Amino acid sequence: MMKIPLFVKKVLRELKKANFEAYLVGGCVRDLLLGKVPQDWDICTNARPSQVQKIFSHSFYENKFGTVTVVFSQKQSKKLITQSKNLNHKKEVQITTYRLEAKYTDKRHPDKVKFTDSLEKDLARRDFTINAMALDPLIKPVEIVDLFGGQKDLKKGIIRAVGQPEDRFSEDALRMIRAVRFACQLNFKIERGTFRAIKEKAYWIQAIAKERIRDELIKIIMSPQPDRGIELLRKAKLLRYIIPELEQGVGISQNKHHLYTVYEHSILSLKYAAQRNYNLVVRLAALLHDIAKPQVKEGEGPEATFYNHDTLGAKFAIRILERLRFPKKIIEKVAHLIRHHMFVYDPETVTEAGVRRLLRRVGPENINDLINLRIADRLGSGCPKAVPYRLRHLFYLIERVSRDPISVKMLKVDGYDVMKTLNLKPGPRIGLLLEALLAEVLEDPQKNTKKYLLGRLKELNQLSDKELKEKTKVVEEKKEEVDLEMKKKYWVK
Ligand code: ATP
Ligand code: MG
Repeated sequence: MMKIPLFVKKVLRELKKANFEAYLVGGCVRDLLLGKVPQDWDICTNARPSQVQKIFSHSFYENKFGTVTVVFSQKQSKKLITQSKNLNHKKEVQITTYRLEAKYTDKRHPDKVKFTDSLEKDLARRDFTINAMALDPLIKPVEIVDLFGGQKDLKKGIIRAVGQPEDRFSEDALRMIRAVRFACQLNFKIERGTFRAIKEKAYWIQAIAKERIRDELIKIIMSPQPDRGIELLRKAKLLRYIIPELEQGVGISQNKHHLYTVYEHSILSLKYAAQRNYNLVVRLAALLHDIAKPQVKEGEGPEATFYNHDTLGAKFAIRILERLRFPKKIIEKVAHLIRHHMFVYDPETVTEAGVRRLLRRVGPENINDLINLRIADRLGSGCPKAVPYRLRHLFYLIERVSRDPISVKMLKVDGYDVMKTLNLKPGPRIGLLLEALLAEVLEDPQKNTKKYLLGRLKELNQLSDKELKEKTKVVEEKKEEVDLEMKKKYWVK
């Protein structure tokens, strides 16, 4: 039956022993009834925060909304967290005093928290019927307080606002995105009246902090059906306030290489990225990799082209993700993948040097993500085979060159050697010389010996800074030119 950890039961028991009411509430009740493992444990009680603190005086902290968090054996739980990524090992319970829905002047947060002694009123302020149930597991049989038909909706797979949907969304407009999030996390339908209200009041979402929107969007994207989530957001008229750039791809046909419109292809790529359990960065890149196509499209019909949509797309992605307050690291990685998603690879003409240059440009730490993006992109284009011969050949060559030097750090000489040999002072020229050496080693890894490189340094030092730059640039640019030719041949994008 229901698996409730002992430490959670203990908290409930302690509260009840002190003559207070105490119930599991919200998401954890929903998940228990679904037979899932809850993300976190929420308890509601008629005890006030100060009374709760007295009972759990050994380990607690309180947030500004009066929620008291009780933490068990912190040392042990920390150890468990590092051992396993599963946060369920976190021994934490959040205890919140029954409260009323307070007035929201900004559709964002309650002006102030008002406590109540009534469980009914606390449940009535919650977002959806499936989230508005309380459960007491200590009495047998367990008591479920379900005032709004949550169990019925859970069985039927329905997301339904508690009470009047407009009222609920006017209190907190984020609930509109939460409805979509739960729909695609649980594979539920959004009840008609609730959906109608979302469509009508979608513009209210503009009042919501971007960080809160981002967190819900991440949950949608990491859910098993993120493509459905994006489509629901669009149908609900919410998408235009979150990623309007995606809507620009609706109805934009591509060319003879594509079955789908830009928008369809974007969400299909995301769908396959999720199906293959790829990480958040790859999923975001899959969704956004063609985001600039509507802007760069030239011509119509089977011969239409989309030159530079990779470079411009990376810029658009940065703008979108910055607007949604994504962390810088994620933004950079997504943009990098989009910038390079058109890499071409032809087993017939490719050389090991070519693969080393690809690794150098993309970074060995990103190559897996980039290939995963390519796989999602292909599947999202309607290609039946995710990993064709060409990609398998690439895996093989990557493996083969995986020990070859592809960065300055991997050269057998370092900046110190350069300065000593040429009697130079620290400065940008040292870096230029190393880059020029690397350009040669990328072509032929055999040259990565101290003896050869030190000898070469003396020759390279005859060149001006500008000439040195040319040496490294030639490698890059030559590649870019080839890229463009190949793109025309293989992708006609
Ligand atoms: P999960 O933890 O899986 O993301 P959850 O349903 O537990 O989902 P939480 O954000 O943890 O969601 O919130 C816990 C409970 O608090 C919810 O189940 C719901 O009853 C209530 N709740 C949370 N956010 C809101 C909100 N914006 N409006 C109304 N009720 C909310
Ligand atoms: Mg929760």
